[in-house]
Amino acid sequence: MLSTMQDAPLSIATLLKHGSTLHGTSEVVTWTGSESRRRSYAEVGDRAAQLAGALRGLGVTGDQRVGTFMWNNAEHLEAYLAIPAMGAVLHTLNIRLFPEQLVYVADHAEDQVIIVDGTLIPLLNKPLAEMKTVRHVIVANGDPETVEAPAGVQVHDYEQLLATQPAEFDWPEIDERSAAAMCYTSGTTGEPKGVVYSHRSIWLHSMQVCMSDSMRLSDTDTTLVIVPQFHAMSWGVPYAAFMVGASMVMPDRFLQPEPITRMMAAEQPTQAAAVPTIWQALLQHLDANPQDISHLREVVVGGSAAPPSMMHAFEERYGVPVLHAWGMTETSPLGSVARPPRGTSGDEAWRYRYTQGRFPASVTARLIDDDGNEVPWDGESVGELEVSGPWIAGAYHKGSDPEKFRGGWLRTGDVGKITPGGYLTLTDRSKDVIKSGGEWISSVDLENDVMAHEAVAEAAVVGVPDEKWDERPLVAVVVKEGHTVTAEELREFLRGKVAKWQVPEYWTFIPEVPKTSVGKFDKKRIRADQSEGKLD
Ligand code: ADP
Repeated sequence: MLSTMQDAPLSIATLLKHGSTLHGTSEVVTWTGSESRRRSYAEVGDRAAQLAGALRGLGVTGDQRVGTFMWNNAEHLEAYLAIPAMGAVLHTLNIRLFPEQLVYVADHAEDQVIIVDGTLIPLLNKPLAEMKTVRHVIVANGDPETVEAPAGVQVHDYEQLLATQPAEFDWPEIDERSAAAMCYTSGTTGEPKGVVYSHRSIWLHSMQVCMSDSMRLSDTDTTLVIVPQFHAMSWGVPYAAFMVGASMVMPDRFLQPEPITRMMAAEQPTQAAAVPTIWQALLQHLDANPQDISHLREVVVGGSAAPPSMMHAFEERYGVPVLHAWGMTETSPLGSVARPPRGTSGDEAWRYRYTQGRFPASVTARLIDDDGNEVPWDGESVGELEVSGPWIAGAYHKGSDPEKFRGGWLRTGDVGKITPGGYLTLTDRSKDVIKSGGEWISSVDLENDVMAHEAVAEAAVVGVPDEKWDERPLVAVVVKEGHTVTAEELREFLRGKVAKWQVPEYWTFIPEVPKTSVGKFDKKRIRADQSEGKLD
């Protein structure tokens, strides 16, 4: 029997119309270094219509791809809304990819147009010369003259294009399962792979971001959007915020702790999200330059395991609770969120908060062992995490890397255990697990234990070859400014915290942990530096 309910498609155009009218007075604030540019959601709605008109005028039709090469700012938000709403597909290009990778992803996605921030033109010029399908480059906040356009590519000024268009657009009705946006994984292994989100998946995911067991965004919030819009759709925050009228503070290119704290002082955000390395750097800066940040009701950390010492530092020194979450580009990215279950408090609640969290109703999970068998959720048995659900990728664009999917499940490459109550603890990425004498050592656990030492700013652990044990952990340590600590002191600190055989004998002290294009510890680089003898 069919239901008697209407079948209204979940579309970005609906989200755009809703946000720009019912939440028309909410604002997107873009930091410019000294002051901020403010734009109401009503203005964003008008300008998104103008952008759609301009793109149509350049010949963008059907589901053609429009790339963005941009920081987090108001214009990027306009592109987020206008491009899918007009039926085209937004492709967020990761500005930190190597030129060859950029050419690969733009060609693979068949981008017709690229919108670029003026400050990023120098990074685009080289790959642009090689891109095969790009016909138009639109420069936002910059000088179009500085684009080195190859033959056949026209360059335009964003504001001039918009000025020629009406603030209304006849948004087409779009099948909710059509492509809305795409994002390539950062390609830590092999070529980058394209994840293509649908209108439906973005809509459902946005609702989840706002749910109270998740990030709880609402129109009483101002969210500081630190996660780049070119990385996993900024964790879905821009769409969710526009949906419920949460105002957004966009840091543009000012991602260092000092400008972030100035933005915080000026705009008093209530919520923010970022990877642990950003929070860790901010914490160090705040410790040296104290500032009241209690306007933040909560900050979200994910993308890598949150060190418990950092979670405690924010809460106990600054009164800001840290919410730990797990996800991937392939999961839109919200997978699990670590809110403790009802009836828990104190240390018991903390133990839940350290985990990667519990899955929402729309994400189904299982753990699979090396023999392909499902392992129980008993809080002890370990396996590779596989997930499925309406905002989880079921394939990559053009069928790349099919082995990442099996029977309707995404194989995450993450290894962990799940409690009977559904709380996930990741011990590692499968490629980062250290296999020592037939036993497994979790690099993440060791990192968290070392980072709990007061003299340690950052610690990254990788497996290095060892004649006797196959592999042993190497700890790369960054010492906090004004502190000193020796390997022997750190070994002593670990005794009693980890099994005796896990205490590492290899240590190296480095000025900074190398980071990936999205700010995570770059373990591939650390392993390469070690094998090339670049580490002491
Ligand atoms: P990349 O593969 O370039 O890191 P993603 O952002 O998609 O790009 O990374 C997803 C991966 O990040 C996950 O598979 C997992 O290994 C790691 N990750 C994300 N959140 C967490 C977390 N809270 N704890 C531990 N690892 C995490």
